[in-house]
Amino acid sequence: MTVSHAKYDIAVIGAGASGMLAAVVSSRAGARVCLIEANPRVGRKILETGNGRCNLSHTPIDGSEYRGSGVGRITAFLDRFGTDETLRYFRGLGLLTRERDGYIYPYSETASSVLDVLRYAVEDAGIEMYTDRRIDRIEPANGGFDIGGIHADKVIISTGGAADPASGSDGSGYKLARDLGLKIVRPLPALVKVRTRDQKDMSVTAGVRAKGTVSVMTTDCIASDRGEIQFTRDGLSGIPVFNVSRYISYAISEGRDVKLSLDLIPDMSITDIESYVTGLTEAGSDHRRSIEETLAGVLHKKINAYICKRIGIGISSPAGDMTRKQISLYARMIKALEYDIESVYGFEQAQVTAGGVDFDEVDDDLQSIKVPGLYLTGEIMDIDGPCGGYNLQWAWTSGYIAGSAAGRR
Ligand SMILES: Cc1cc2nc3c(=O)[nH]c(=O)nc-3n(C[C@H](O)[C@H](O)[C@H](O)COP(=O)(O)OP(=O)(O)OC[C@H]3O[C@@H](n4cnc5c(N)ncnc54)[C@H](O)[C@@H]3O)c2cc1C
Repeated sequence: MTVSHAKYDIAVIGAGASGMLAAVVSSRAGARVCLIEANPRVGRKILETGNGRCNLSHTPIDGSEYRGSGVGRITAFLDRFGTDETLRYFRGLGLLTRERDGYIYPYSETASSVLDVLRYAVEDAGIEMYTDRRIDRIEPANGGFDIGGIHADKVIISTGGAADPASGSDGSGYKLARDLGLKIVRPLPALVKVRTRDQKDMSVTAGVRAKGTVSVMTTDCIASDRGEIQFTRDGLSGIPVFNVSRYISYAISEGRDVKLSLDLIPDMSITDIESYVTGLTEAGSDHRRSIEETLAGVLHKKINAYICKRIGIGISSPAGDMTRKQISLYARMIKALEYDIESVYGFEQAQVTAGGVDFDEVDDDLQSIKVPGLYLTGEIMDIDGPCGGYNLQWAWTSGYIAGSAAGRR
């Protein structure tokens, strides 16, 4: 579609979560708004979120869980438009929600419900849509901005980050911001799985899920999280691994050696495990059991096989053959099963981007300090949260704040 010099009060670039909300909010404030999207259809990524169920927010939302240069300001933004305000706003758009363990989903548990209410709100507000249009330059002109044949007094960049480029957020927003002189903190993959350096024996545990604690070790422990760890053919995955992956991304990018240390029984000390296993091996020996049979109730049998291989214990040997030293090694490895990390997966596999436009570049309405009239929302900003609805909540929070500020005359 070719448009020559269409004029708007506000052009929103990127029809994802934050851009659609910013467009609706600013239009409802009385502005003439257009929404420009690179894909043929809007909101593609929303459909992928929460495994197709869209975990759209979290309650209670805790600002201290976010990372990036916005960390000192995120709570103030959330105080203005946090979980309650978001759910109220969506309810007004016709969306019912449900909550489970703090995770908030649409009541239908279908991501398309969230996208549909946003799409209808965009239509109802009379926002003009330009799809199939990737913007590669924003030109300040005549007190406003020229964007590929469109003139707007104000622009909201809502192009997302670089995670999941197939959804449309291919990192091109960073170039738009950089060309306007904004400082960008290096974008890196976050909420992503990791590859271990030694993959020789990873097939032994591939497919196993185990609850435990994951710690990122460089010289010290720099981050940890607890939850269900997934063992893969070439590394580790699962929510706690995702949640610490941003730290691994940055450490590796700085050339530091990184290990992931797993505690597979966080509720017991090494000594407790040692004495428990000693008791088991004594009983196992009385009943002529193998080490494999004796330890079957301690950990998943594939993890037992992996640990025993690493410490050189023949798993089919009689339980009574397990020496005190081996029991101690086994207990220590349960508490600190260490893997050297080779890399994190790339943006193709990442759910979010760590890094982005530095928060020093924006005021409290997310308006650029250097380029008045330019606003930024969502993942393009240097802020990222853990799994659980934190990243979409930032998209709604920032979309609402920038949209209402830009919409004010
Ligand atoms: C698989 C997956 C699952 C996820 N699940 C969850 C979840 O359950 N809960 C949660 O909180 N978060 C989740 N996230 C993260 C969340 O989806 C994002 O943080 C959020 O969508 C970011 O919103 P945004 O508006 O900044 O960008 P996006 O939603 O990425 O939208 C950006 C839009 O801009 C368009 N665009 C990009 N560049 C240009 C350009 N140059 N010109 C024109 N248009 C452009 C893109 O095509 C896209 O439509 C998930 C992410 C992924 C990949």
